[in-house]
Amino acid sequence: MIDLRLKIDDVPIDNPSIVRLRSHAVDSEYDALLIDRDQESQTFDLAGYSLRVHCGPETDLDGDVLLLVPGRKSAHRLVRSRSRHNTFLVTEQCDQLCVMCSQPPKKYHADLFDQFTVAATLAPENARITISGGEPLLHKGRLFQFLLAAVKARPDISFHVLTNGQFFEPGDSTVMDEIGRDRVLWGIPLYAPYAGLHDSIVGKSGAFETLSLNLTALMRAGAAVELRTVVLQQNWDVLPQLANYVSTRLPFIDVWAIMQLENIGYGRMNWAHSFKDTSLDFGRLRTAINLAIGRGIQTLLYNFPLCSVPPGYRHLAPGTISDWKNKFLEQCSGCSLRSTCGGFFEWYKADQGFGGLSPQ
Ligand code: SF4
Repeated sequence: MIDLRLKIDDVPIDNPSIVRLRSHAVDSEYDALLIDRDQESQTFDLAGYSLRVHCGPETDLDGDVLLLVPGRKSAHRLVRSRSRHNTFLVTEQCDQLCVMCSQPPKKYHADLFDQFTVAATLAPENARITISGGEPLLHKGRLFQFLLAAVKARPDISFHVLTNGQFFEPGDSTVMDEIGRDRVLWGIPLYAPYAGLHDSIVGKSGAFETLSLNLTALMRAGAAVELRTVVLQQNWDVLPQLANYVSTRLPFIDVWAIMQLENIGYGRMNWAHSFKDTSLDFGRLRTAINLAIGRGIQTLLYNFPLCSVPPGYRHLAPGTISDWKNKFLEQCSGCSLRSTCGGFFEWYKADQGFGGLSPQ
C-alpha cells in the first residue's frame, strides 16, 4: 500500500496551503525546489523556508502536489504525478448511510475547495481527477465553482465525480454546460430496480424516487453518467430486474459498472450479510450482464479479481482498484493473468473473501 500521507517537519503557515514538489526547476509560485536529499528525507525550498519530507531518496516526488495543514506533521499527497489514480475527498459529510460505505460520514465539513482548485491546476497533463466524499454535492455551489475554475484554467484535465445523485436540479444544466459535458463523468450508484430495496441499502427513505427524477434531469442535460451497482446479498436476486430497469429506463448512460464490495468502513461491518461470493455463484450476475449487453448497455465489472470471473466475462473486468490501495495474494505470484488482473483491495481478508479463486 502506498501511503497518501507523508510525514513532514513543521512548516510556518497560517492557512491550509498547496505546494508542488519539483526536482529540477520551478514554474509556478506554488512550486518548491529540491535542495537536499539523504537516506531519510528530501528537503525542498518553498519561498525561502525549508519543507522537509520524510521519505527515502528512492521515492519520486517530482510533480507531486501536497496539501499542508497548519500544525500538522503530515501532508496529504493530493496528486501523485506518476499515477492515474488521484482522488480529492472534498467532504466527509453525507445524507445517506449505505450498507457498503467505505468512508463512513462525519458530521463536520472543512471547506478546502480553494486549495483543491489550486491543486487541480497543478496536476500533470491530461489528468483525470476523481472527486469523492462523503457526498460532494452537499456543497454543490462550491463544487461547481471549483469545477468551473479548474476546467477554465486547465483545458486538458477532466473529472470523475462520485455522487449519490440526490442533489441535482434542472437549473444545474446551465452550469454543467459551462463546465463542459465532456469534462465530467458523474459516477452515480443505483442498487435495486425499486424504491423499497434501494432505499434500505442506502439508508434513506425517498432516495430512489429522487434519484430517478435526477437521472432524468441528467439525461436531459446530456451529462455523461457511469451508473454504479455494488453486488450484495441484499440485491443479488434482483440483478436481472435491475438490468432490465437500466436498459429500458436509463439507456442513455455511458456505462453500467457492476462492482464488488470493499472490506472497509461499513462494508467491513456488514460483510457477513452483504458480501456475495461471485466466484462460487455467478448465475444472476451472468443473466444481468447478458441482458444489459444484449440491449446495448456497455457493462463492466469493477473490483473483481479476474479468476473470480468465468473466462467468457473476464474481458469485462478491467483493473479498477487504485494503485495505492491495491494488493495481490501469495497465490497470484505465478498466475499468467497477473499483469491484467486488478487484484484485491489492501484490506481484503482472504479467509472471509472469495472461495473460488484459482491462479491461471
Ligand atoms: S490468481 Fe491471478 S487472476 Fe486470480 S487474483 Fe491472483 S492474479 Fe488475479
